[in-house]
Amino acid sequence: MADDQWPPAKIKVGNSAIEVKFTSGKIDLPRQVVLDWISNAARAVAEYFGRFPLPHPRIEVQPAPRAHGVFGGTTWGYRGGFTRISVGQRTDRQELDNDWMMTHELTHMAFPDIEGEDNEHHWLEEGMATYIEPIARCQIGLLNPERVWGEMAQYMPEGQPQYGDRGLDNTHTWGRTYWGGALFLLLADIKIREQTHNRKGLQDAMRAIVQAGGDIREDWPIENTLKTGDRATGRTVLMDLYNQMKSTPVQTDLNDLWRRLGVAVVNDKVVFNDNAPLANIRKAITAPRNQ
Ligand SMILES: [Zn+2]
Repeated sequence: MADDQWPPAKIKVGNSAIEVKFTSGKIDLPRQVVLDWISNAARAVAEYFGRFPLPHPRIEVQPAPRAHGVFGGTTWGYRGGFTRISVGQRTDRQELDNDWMMTHELTHMAFPDIEGEDNEHHWLEEGMATYIEPIARCQIGLLNPERVWGEMAQYMPEGQPQYGDRGLDNTHTWGRTYWGGALFLLLADIKIREQTHNRKGLQDAMRAIVQAGGDIREDWPIENTLKTGDRATGRTVLMDLYNQMKSTPVQTDLNDLWRRLGVAVVNDKVVFNDNAPLANIRKAITAPRNQ
């Protein structure tokens, strides 16, 4: 082990043991602060999905000389699940507190690799990580709901189809992959809750997929994945929405959606309207869940 290399660590989350390794290089923060950052991300994912999805995943942290912040996260399913991520040497505590990437990467562990001939369903993998990451952090108190909904209101327009769009399966732009996918899941979450009097949500569907063995070590067809989620809610929202949006550009009236959820941005501040028709659904989405 090189002089400037931190020793490995094991992070326990429920029944899972996450093995963390550092490549050589310096990070100015204490090692424990970096481990706490990983542990928080893992707890958020475990809360959302009901448990941490993999028993013995590995994380490799690569210190980046003189850099600030977290970047370059990638997650693979091979050999029990593996995330590689870079942390700049000069990263401060606040940057780790504000980081979304670690949670995003670990969220990928809780969803199968969606089979496709040409990676055409990648939007579902990125969309679910984009949508769930802030909600999971909010559910364990690391983000407040104002921030979650404020960022959704800010970025969701990136997910709308642009000129020439041919639906989510056929349009591989950055906006449609990350935010188009996130918008698909937000719409699904709301529809499931509308159809079940807010007793079920996307979270039930996502937990059922993990329970059925659908984690990143597995390759699943998209229909199996969505139908497994639908069975848990007793509705067909995911498949119906997929059939509507897969090869057709569907515009969403986002202003109307925020109004119905009771989310407004006034002078750069997020203001909630608890009398809005979907206010209870908005609250349920970010609320901590009892098992
Ligand atoms: Zn991702």
